[in-house]
Amino acid sequence: MRDTDGPVVGTLIRTATLVVRNARIYTTDSTRPWAEALACDGERIIAVGKEKAIDAVTGSQTKVLDASGRLVLPGFIDAHVHLIWGYELGTWIDLTGRPSLDEVQRRVATHAAVHPEEEILLGHGFDYAALRVSGLPDKRHLDYIVNDRPVLLTAWDGHTGWGNSRFVDRALEAMAAAGREIGEMQRNAATREPTGIFHRAFDITGLLPEVQRRRSLAGLQQTVSMASAVGITTAFDVQVNYEDLAAYDTLRKQGRLTVRIRAAIYHPADSPRSRYSDFLVACRRYDDDWFRVAAIKLYIDGVQETTTAALLEPYANDSTTRGETVYPEADFQSIVAELDRIGFQICTHACGDRGVRIALDAYERAAQLNGTSGHRHRIEHCENLAAEDIARIAHVGVIPCMMPRHSSPDLTARWREAVGPERTRRGFPWRELLAAGAELAFASDWPVAEIDPLIGIHEAVNRRTLEGDPSAHRVSLVEAIAGYTRRAAYACHTEANGGSLEAGKYADLIVVSQNLFDLPPERIREARVVKTVVGGQSVYRAADATGP
Ligand SMILES: [Zn+2]
Repeated sequence: MRDTDGPVVGTLIRTATLVVRNARIYTTDSTRPWAEALACDGERIIAVGKEKAIDAVTGSQTKVLDASGRLVLPGFIDAHVHLIWGYELGTWIDLTGRPSLDEVQRRVATHAAVHPEEEILLGHGFDYAALRVSGLPDKRHLDYIVNDRPVLLTAWDGHTGWGNSRFVDRALEAMAAAGREIGEMQRNAATREPTGIFHRAFDITGLLPEVQRRRSLAGLQQTVSMASAVGITTAFDVQVNYEDLAAYDTLRKQGRLTVRIRAAIYHPADSPRSRYSDFLVACRRYDDDWFRVAAIKLYIDGVQETTTAALLEPYANDSTTRGETVYPEADFQSIVAELDRIGFQICTHACGDRGVRIALDAYERAAQLNGTSGHRHRIEHCENLAAEDIARIAHVGVIPCMMPRHSSPDLTARWREAVGPERTRRGFPWRELLAAGAELAFASDWPVAEIDPLIGIHEAVNRRTLEGDPSAHRVSLVEAIAGYTRRAAYACHTEANGGSLEAGKYADLIVVSQNLFDLPPERIREARVVKTVVGGQSVYRAADATGP
């Protein structure tokens, strides 16, 4: 769907409400990439250029942001992030940092002792490879730590859940009530006993009242503030349950929303078509530049690490499988065609090359049936891609949304084992996608990886092969920044208002501690955002930053 609030470019010379001066402004606008200063009137930019030109619109009432010679960039746009997690979980056990099994157990035990009031314990971020158990962990690893209430820990991949026996019991109750298996529960092949692993854990948690009772605006406020502190001014929350959309609206009405949100409604595999009228009502209700709902998130497959991504050829570590798809292909095509017809931008999660192909086929088929829509359908992740589909993505006009950090060798041990060396070598082909003309958008996928776009930019620019050589897939600094600004704006239909610093667009901008263009590439990661401005208003300022 479209932006309603297009840019308004005044012809009269106005007095600025805010000017940014003494800056090295990289605009991302290829016709005039660099500027010294810019001026805003209210929430929009009115001029970008030389100090002198900006002085002419600076009055006695104008606020001045002196950037002290620092780099100013358009606010980052994270095209695939899950800020709603903060709302859904309220509090959780932090299992990031690749803890060992002992350490996971210690953190869970400590949290359980400190929080006797929590009726279910939720944790996030463990890495199965760091646990050093063979295969995936088991419910028994948790049972002797906590057996008085359910525990569910989700892996860093955001999909894989590891529950104790109490959690498995709750999940089985929920499935019995629903009359079907949910969440792709793993069972022991010989005994059929559930192991405690769920390949799509979020489908179960959405059904449990004890998880719903944890929902907390304070948790959402926390994740939104975290995004502001790393310079994100627009977040595409790619998977929000219909029932949770109102949380963003409430936060906004309370004046506490500091990041512009665009949301995609989560479409569980069993969503009846009768739900679509509700989805359309949400799009009409939440439809301005602070909070807009205009997309749908679907899954066609899972993740390589658990052999649930759909591949064209069998897995390297299990030749009996190519992974399953969430829908039979014909069903998926028909769902996509209907969602396209009624006006949604569709974001399909597809990690494997077969998943990507099925998504592309479905998008092409929808265009044949309904005409070319301009919805800019997307494929999320695209980690393995067949060579012939790289050109096709650009040709069909589908947007690949990819996460640079997911390709890092420290996160891909299990991924590489699953797909083998040849598909590893060809994985995450950013360079080829750009060369083919694809509008490649970058994103964090937080909480699956760090939210900081500067970490993503660092990885995109400095990507290396397993042998430690510069990767042929790495991109330039300009391309990496575009992935988090200009191209992300296109992926989110916000390019009329953001993604570059130009007169008429919103004054959504950041000040960075060091000039990324002067830093040796391997030190990009040391830079940090010191100031974030959204719509001409400061929403974040590092403790040691100067200026208003
Ligand atoms: Zn995601």
